[in-house]
Amino acid sequence: MAHEVKTTCPYCGVGCGVIAKVEENGAVSIKGDPDHPANYGRLCSKGSALGETLDLDGRALYPTVDGKRQSWDAALDLVAETFSRTISEQGPDSVAFYLSGQLLTEDYYVANKLMKGFIGSANIDTNSRLCMASSVAGHKRAFGADTVPGNYRDLELADLVVLVGSNMGWCHPVLYQRLAAEKAKRPGLKVVVIDPRRTATSDIADLHLSIRPDGDVALFNGLLAHLVEAGAIDQSYIAAHTTGFAETFSAAASQSFADLLDATGLPAMQIRQFFQMFAATERSVTCYSQGVNQSSLGTDKVNAIINCHLATGRVGKPGCGPFSLTGQPNAMGGREVGGLANMLAAHMEIANPDDRDRVRRFWASPSIAEKPGLKAVEMFQAVADGRIKALWIMSTNPVVSMPDADAVKAAIAACPFVVVSDIQADTDTAQLAHVLLPAAGWGEKSGTVTNSERRISRQRPFKLAPGEARPDWWQMAEVGRRMGFAEAFAYSSPAEIFAEHASLSAFENHGSRDFDIGAYATAREADYEALIPFQWPQQAGETASESRFFANGGFYHADGKARFIVCDTAAPERVKADFPFTLNTGRVRDHWHTMTRTAKSARLSAHLAEPFAEIHPLDAASLGLADAALVELTSETGARILVRTLVTARQSRGSIFVPMHWTGETASLARVDTLVPSVTDPISGQPALKHVGVSVKPYNAH
Ligand code: SF4
Repeated sequence: MAHEVKTTCPYCGVGCGVIAKVEENGAVSIKGDPDHPANYGRLCSKGSALGETLDLDGRALYPTVDGKRQSWDAALDLVAETFSRTISEQGPDSVAFYLSGQLLTEDYYVANKLMKGFIGSANIDTNSRLCMASSVAGHKRAFGADTVPGNYRDLELADLVVLVGSNMGWCHPVLYQRLAAEKAKRPGLKVVVIDPRRTATSDIADLHLSIRPDGDVALFNGLLAHLVEAGAIDQSYIAAHTTGFAETFSAAASQSFADLLDATGLPAMQIRQFFQMFAATERSVTCYSQGVNQSSLGTDKVNAIINCHLATGRVGKPGCGPFSLTGQPNAMGGREVGGLANMLAAHMEIANPDDRDRVRRFWASPSIAEKPGLKAVEMFQAVADGRIKALWIMSTNPVVSMPDADAVKAAIAACPFVVVSDIQADTDTAQLAHVLLPAAGWGEKSGTVTNSERRISRQRPFKLAPGEARPDWWQMAEVGRRMGFAEAFAYSSPAEIFAEHASLSAFENHGSRDFDIGAYATAREADYEALIPFQWPQQAGETASESRFFANGGFYHADGKARFIVCDTAAPERVKADFPFTLNTGRVRDHWHTMTRTAKSARLSAHLAEPFAEIHPLDAASLGLADAALVELTSETGARILVRTLVTARQSRGSIFVPMHWTGETASLARVDTLVPSVTDPISGQPALKHVGVSVKPYNAH
């Protein structure tokens, strides 16, 4: 009989509710869930095409070892034996897990527990390091915890929404639809877009600031100084709830207006207009995404934005606040369970001995990790130089998506033991696996994800996993059992894992911190099955409600106060004589990551059929390039890619934009991340994927 299942979209961090209708003949149709508070029934092009991506083309259907089919028992035994032997011969830091914001929270929890609590290393990191690590670091510096203060609803309640480094129209489309709909209803709602490119998002902007790459810290330092001059700061909020204002203001005010113009490349009139709009508008939300995070100044950019909101007391109140938009569907869930090399679990810290002891006792852990592990870029460098000898990659494709992707590919190819768990057998990374474990995909597995506004929603299965594919949590629990930790990994369902995760979040009053979902610590299978989307925190005894943080202080530093952070305005110089253009990488509207799923939909592939290099008409003319001409880009990594030009005045002069999605499979010379050097933010470890010096020249086949 036909039936409907409520689940959550597996693409971006908006986290839209989806209803999958399964017909008697197995056909699946998709529609938005009108009851889900993220989307109220809306879906974007990717979400509505989900039913077109469920075929078995390229699926991994059974485990393989060195390309040959194996039983699950044989493959799992080999993984457990090889990891155990490597650890015993070379120590726990000789192994690593590289995870993904595509994993469900339950998968992430088990991986983190196995690596940090039982292997005794913190070498577990994730492609979310490429997505929002700078926001995490910025939140922790300012608030004392990785806490997003507000809600999506705040964008609709605001009178000013500032979008910094965010092409929300393409990358968070349903949230953009909500904002655009509100703006159409209420013209008094103003939108400012700060982005070097004039993107689809700029189409609803009252003001577009085509800022120089990495000019954001200078701009927000300038705004802070202006807010003081204009008398627009909230002195009682600053005095009651913050520290460090005087020093931060003094550093910001030391920047001259001439320096500000130089760093941002913006006309003085536009800067003044933006500053006046922000100063005059109490209800202001500043959303930021990868243009802020993916930078060697990423954490300072985040804090420069937060500084302006703290100075005005515009935090956690309806229609107010800094708002980090996470790229991936479960980047937030991964943070909650400590799926980053420098975090523990439930927002506890590896560096804090009390936290380590609390988690060790909760897990009955024989060997809790004592120090932070390797972050993504460092991890693949350790693979390259032989420090990592056994690597398990889950649900991600670093051969395409990591910076210096050719070096990452060579490192994985040379690693003595590589396990890949994926739904697809044909990714560039899966093809380098010694052991390939077939994973259950969206619509086949069960668990939870957390979206950008801290809302936890269920992903529910509506079809059987094909062949012998199994959920990631099951694979890791099986390996944990085979490594000798039978009791700790005796899970029989994701509901059990979720309840354990919820218990840990509330263990020994840990709930005095921000992340506490103790209300679900005793959830049974039926409760888990019926779970409706809710925002954290939700402590034991509470019922779900729309939550905001910090309107009246209550920050998570020991003194309860937020920190103003002095932020460095010195933008790095990446453009050199040999590489005079600035390369910016990012998404297109209808593809997701390395296209393992979205390329299956003809409708999605029709939007932009091949990779391209956006270039300004004057730059194209100076190089003798026509539209759709083949062009060769090279960078200091020594890599070269070949793409067609897309000549458009939406691109700023001196800059090139190339999308990140295309892989070695679909366009052998279009892996744009081969051009990106391994430069990272020194605080967050997030790579600078949007500011790369490149040379551009017409392709000459001869
Ligand atoms: Fe999915 Fe994001 Fe589109 Fe919503 S906005 S349907 S979560 S891709």
